[in-house]
Order: sequence, then C-alpha cells, then structure tokens
Amino acid sequence: MSCVFCQIISGKIPSDIVYQDEEITAFRDIEPQAPVHILIVPKKHIGALGDISHEDATIIGEMTLVANKLAEQEGISQRGYRVVVNSGPEGGQAVSHLHMHLLGGRQLSGQLG
Ligand code: AMP
Ligand code: ZN
Repeated sequence: MSCVFCQIISGKIPSDIVYQDEEITAFRDIEPQAPVHILIVPKKHIGALGDISHEDATIIGEMTLVANKLAEQEGISQRGYRVVVNSGPEGGQAVSHLHMHLLGGRQLSGQLG
C-alpha cells in the first residue's frame, strides 16, 4: 500500500486528524498554506476527481458538508473560506488519492492558478 493518504486513514502514518466518520477522514495539511488548511479525504481510495464514477459521486457532497462543518469548528464560516480539488498533473495534484483542501483564516488571493 503505497498511497500516503490510505496510510494516514489506516493509522500507519501519523497525522493530525480533526474529523472522522464512516466514509471520510479529515486531517491538517503538513505544509499549511493558510492558518486553516485541512484535507478532507474519502476513506475509499479514489485516485482523482477525474476518476469519480456515478456510484461514488455522492462522496463529493459529503466532503462538502464536512468542509462546512469544519469551517464552523475552526471559526471561519462567517469570514469565508475556500475549497479546492486538484485533479491530475496539470491540475496540480501531487497525492493521487482524491482530497478536498479547506483553506481559510486569512484573505486568500483572487488567483486561481
Ligand atoms: P495536492 O497537491 O492537491 O495533491 O495536495 C496534496 C497535499 O497533501 C499537499 O498540500 C501536501 O502538503 C499534503 N500532504 C502530503 N503528505 C502529507 C501528510 N503526510 N500529512 C498531511 N498532509 C500531507
Ligand atoms: Zn489512497
């Protein structure tokens, strides 16, 4: 099992986990780009957003609900925040296990890429 996020999910490598349910694990990014930087990850290994099947598509909605809940917990829901999903090499995806970045706690730039 070489996938780093699968190893985090199974507890084989340590991480700062902030949320877990049956389908999703969320943990703090090891190289935070903002005061709040959390990765929201399905427990099922799905390589990328581009690999989502119709059957798995509801996981994106579940991940969004977790992002909103964590934004509330982190005290940034009123100020605003950003969720980002990178898919594939030119999308800037470095870890090939679907994940949503939750970023906030500072004014984010208007740049998208
Ligand atoms: P992406 O470029 O969208 O694939 O994002 C991958 C993210 O995973 C980056 O922001 C990394 O800092 C983060 N990351 C990589 N390894 C770990 C780890 N072991 N624990 C927490 N975050 C990690
Ligand atoms: Zn994985």
